[in-house]
Amino acid sequence: MKVIGLLGGMSWESSIEYYRIVNERVRDRLGGLHSAHCVLYSVDFAEIERMQVEGRWDDAAAVLNSAATKLVEAGAEIVVLCTNTMHKVADRLDVPLLHIADTTAAAVRRAGVHRVGLLGTAFTMEQDFYTGRLTGLDVLVPDADDRATVHRVIYDELVQGIVRDESRRAYREVIARLVDRGAEGVILGCTEIELLVGQADSPVPVFPTTRLHAELAVDVALGDDLGVSPDPNRPRRT
Ligand code: GLU
Repeated sequence: MKVIGLLGGMSWESSIEYYRIVNERVRDRLGGLHSAHCVLYSVDFAEIERMQVEGRWDDAAAVLNSAATKLVEAGAEIVVLCTNTMHKVADRLDVPLLHIADTTAAAVRRAGVHRVGLLGTAFTMEQDFYTGRLTGLDVLVPDADDRATVHRVIYDELVQGIVRDESRRAYREVIARLVDRGAEGVILGCTEIELLVGQADSPVPVFPTTRLHAELAVDVALGDDLGVSPDPNRPRRT
């Protein structure tokens, strides 16, 4: 079993889900008392969030690259960046990274879904670093008002461990409007969203990125060849 490196803290509310899921997946696959070989590096999310707001992506990339390098020094053979948004700087991390958008796109395609809605932070919904990587899919994002609601609930509530029924209702309505526009599935493209909504809240299949990413990390760690693997030699931005 390869060692999984969890680069977390963005937020820790979802990082603990990654830790739970990788261990559950190993137990389910290997049985008995088996659990995951993993290391966790958790950053201070307040610092990262400030860099996001100020557009200091180079600084954020430097912080995450330093953390990712420490994970590898600690033995990690696969690095899992436990946030969709910070994959904006994924190509600047000089480690074998299992990309969350590749993982998600593969799951959506496997389900036979082509037109897919995307919920996430404004960065994820509005910038090309994520949607551009969902290759072969027709991606629908909510309208501006709905994007603002989805983004606000993430930062004002979910990353702080606050889960409100009224926000769940608002997300259900956003999902329903995406389905009205033709979405055949919905990507829960922020690692805290699955703390709020799940399959019961959607008439079409949902794709929970935390679960998909964490489970695939285990499958890769156990040697499965799933066509999505950490690629240390991918093209890098200069
Ligand atoms: N965890 C979230 C995500 O998956 C948002 C927090 C962050 O900005 O990293 O995008």
